[in-house]
Amino acid sequence: MVSTLVDKEKLEEAGYLILQAVNAKLSTEESKRTAQRFAAMIAEQCAFMAIDNSDIAKEFNKTFECRNNDIVIVKNIPCFSICEHHLALMYNMKISVGYIPNGRVIGLSKIARIADAASKRLQLQERIGEDIIDVLEQILNIKDVIVHIQAEHACVTARGIAKPGAITETIACDGVFCEASRKVEFLQAIKL
Ligand SMILES: [Zn+2]
Repeated sequence: MVSTLVDKEKLEEAGYLILQAVNAKLSTEESKRTAQRFAAMIAEQCAFMAIDNSDIAKEFNKTFECRNNDIVIVKNIPCFSICEHHLALMYNMKISVGYIPNGRVIGLSKIARIADAASKRLQLQERIGEDIIDVLEQILNIKDVIVHIQAEHACVTARGIAKPGAITETIACDGVFCEASRKVEFLQAIKL
């Protein structure tokens, strides 16, 4: 397993600083525990921040020979991420992935693991799709990959403009899926 390279001590310090900055009236013991929980939460959500796509590709490189080269789709993979602009949560996220194999297919659970890894970074929703495509292309030596993501962003729903329920949808694609007809075919297939 790749190591996560997250500095938990620094995260705990950051947790303390937040509590101080907002004048939280917690006991020393409570402050310590909250800072530790904060550190653990951010460490979990940023576990793949310092890990390259190529290392994720190595980690989840489990493929099988398959002569059927028709589209493979895994849809509605639930994930969480944190936006790099506000450090706010992206939630109710559903990731759907499609690809055209080229003699080999990847283990289906590995697609979910790759989606999860790409999400466990400070991210932009748009880039999560790009990262998943990058990893799958490296593992399968293919070019025909498409990713649809829908999510709610706490920076939109719970602060500032505060529009709960606003859903962001993004598509990232490569190869044949850049053609409008293939894109529509995929979107029909995953119809949420
Ligand atoms: Zn944001």
